[in-house]
Amino acid sequence: MDLFEYQARDLFEKHGVPVLAAAIATTPEEAEHAATKIGGKVVVKAQVKVGGRGKAGGVKLAENAVDAREKASAILGMDIKGHEVRTVMIAAAAPIESEYYLAILLDRSNRTFLVMASVSGGMDIEEVAHTAPEKLAKIPVSAVDGISAAKAKEIVAAANFPSDVADQVADVLLKLWEVFQSEDATLVEVNPLVKTSDGKVIALDGKITLDDNAEFRQPDHAALVDHAAANALEAAAKEKNLNYVKLEGEVGIIGNGAGLVMSTLDVVAYAGKKHGGVQPANFLDIGGGASAQIMADGLSIILGDSDVKSVFVNVFGGITACDAVATGIVQALELLGAKATKPIVVRLDGNNVVEGRAILSKAAHPLIEQVDTMDGAANRAAELAAK
Ligand code: GDP
Ligand code: MN
Repeated sequence: MDLFEYQARDLFEKHGVPVLAAAIATTPEEAEHAATKIGGKVVVKAQVKVGGRGKAGGVKLAENAVDAREKASAILGMDIKGHEVRTVMIAAAAPIESEYYLAILLDRSNRTFLVMASVSGGMDIEEVAHTAPEKLAKIPVSAVDGISAAKAKEIVAAANFPSDVADQVADVLLKLWEVFQSEDATLVEVNPLVKTSDGKVIALDGKITLDDNAEFRQPDHAALVDHAAANALEAAAKEKNLNYVKLEGEVGIIGNGAGLVMSTLDVVAYAGKKHGGVQPANFLDIGGGASAQIMADGLSIILGDSDVKSVFVNVFGGITACDAVATGIVQALELLGAKATKPIVVRLDGNNVVEGRAILSKAAHPLIEQVDTMDGAANRAAELAAK
C-alpha cells in the first residue's frame, strides 16, 4: 500500500524524523484555518499518490492564510496524472538552501535492502540517475545488520554530503531506517530532504510504501487505507475473500488458479479483437476448492458489474474435479435466481470432465452455454459480449 504524503509525514514524526508543522484540508476554508494555526508562510500541497506534483502545479507557496485559501481552492479538484485532488496538506514553508535525496528500499533483484542518497535532490531524481549516475550513491544494506550509526556515516560519506550537514543527515538516516523496519515498509523516500537557511536538515516530502504481507502484525495500518479510492466491486470481493481485480472490458472472467486466469485474460483479449475490441472485465481466481458458495460469490460480484455483458467460466479440474465445479455452478445459479441475467460460457476440462459436462447439460440452464476448448469458449464469450 502506498501512503499519501501527509501519512508518510505522520510516520516520520512518530519516529523522530524532522518534519515541519502541517495539517490536511479538504476545503479552502479548512485550508485557511490550518494556515492560520501554523502561522506565516505556508506551502499548499496536493495529496495524490503520484510523483511530480510540483511540476503539475500541485505544490504552491502561500504568503498568508488568505492566500493559502486561494491556493487550496486552485489545487482542490485538480487532476494530476489521472488522480483527482480531494485533500491538500498545508505545511509551514521552509527557507530552502539545498535539496538532497534519501531513500531506503527493498532491492528485490539483489535480495537485499538498498539506500540511495544524493546531494542533487529536488524534483527530478530519475533524471539525475540517468544523466549523472555518479551523483546518486547506492549502498546495499544487509537485512540482518540494518543501518547502524557507522553504516549511516559510511552512506553519508559515499554520497558526499557537505560536512556541515553530515551528522544531521546520518541521524535522519537512522530514523528513516527505524521507520522502514518497524513499520514494515518496502520503500521510504525523502525528496527533497533540505538544508534550510539556518542550517537545519528537514524532510520536506515523503513517500512510503508499506508491505501488505505484514498487515497481520501492523494493526494500526488499517486506518491508513484510502477507502474512497477502492473500487466498490473490489471492496465487495475483498469482503468475501475473493482474489478479484476490476479491469476495463466487458467479458466477466472466473477461473481457478492465477496462471489459468491470466492466460484466460490473454485469450479473451485476443478473441475480442474479432468482435469489436471487447476486453476482459476483471481478474477473478476462485482458487482450488471452488465450492458452490465461492462460485456464487464470484458470479454475483461479476454479474453486479454493469460493464459486464457476458461471463466466461474457465475451469481446469484438478484436486477439485469438474463434476464438483459443475455442481457448484448449477447451485450458484439457483442461489442467485433472478440476479443471474447474463450469458455464461463454461469451459470445463481436466479431472472428471465427462461427468462435469454431463451435469451442466442435464441442468440445461438457459444462461449456460458449454464450449469444450479454451479458445472456442473465449471466442464465444467475446461474441456474446459484442452483441
Ligand atoms: P513532488 O513534486 O510531488 O515531489 O512534491 P514536493 O513535495 O517534493 O515539492 C516539490 C518542490 O516544491 C520541492 O522540491 C521544493 O522545491 C518545493 N517546496 C516544497 N515545500 C517547500 C517549502 O516549504 N518551501 C519552499 N521554498 N519550497 C518548497
Ligand atoms: Mn518530492
